[in-house]
Amino acid sequence: MGEALQLDSAKQLLKQYYAGQRMPSPSGGFLMPLGIRPTDKGSAVGIFECSVSSLRYELEIPKATRTERKKVKEEIEAGRDPDCPRHGPGTRLTRAGKQLVCRACGVAYGKA
Ligand SMILES: [Zn+2]
Repeated sequence: MGEALQLDSAKQLLKQYYAGQRMPSPSGGFLMPLGIRPTDKGSAVGIFECSVSSLRYELEIPKATRTERKKVKEEIEAGRDPDCPRHGPGTRLTRAGKQLVCRACGVAYGKA
C-alpha cells in the first residue's frame, strides 16, 4: 500500500468531493477515489490515488456538525428517509450498526 500523503487545501477539495466534481491532484492529473475509511470518532478518511503519479493521498472528512445532525434528526422525526446533508438529495444515509452513515463520505449523521 505504501504511505499516503496528506493534502493541503482540504476545504476546497472537500467541496468538490461532496459535489461529485473532479479533484485536482497536487502532482498533476486528478484524484481518483479509492475508498473511505470511517473512524471511531464519527469522521472519515478518504483515500485517493493521483491519476498521473499513482501517489496515494488521504483527506480527512470532518465529522457531522450539530446542525447537520439536527437536520437529519428532523427528517427522521418527519418520517422521511434522510439524505446526506453534504452530498444532498439522492444520497441516502444507510444504517451501519447503530449509526446512520453516508456511504459516499463515511460520516455518521445520526442514530439509526
Ligand atoms: Zn455524504
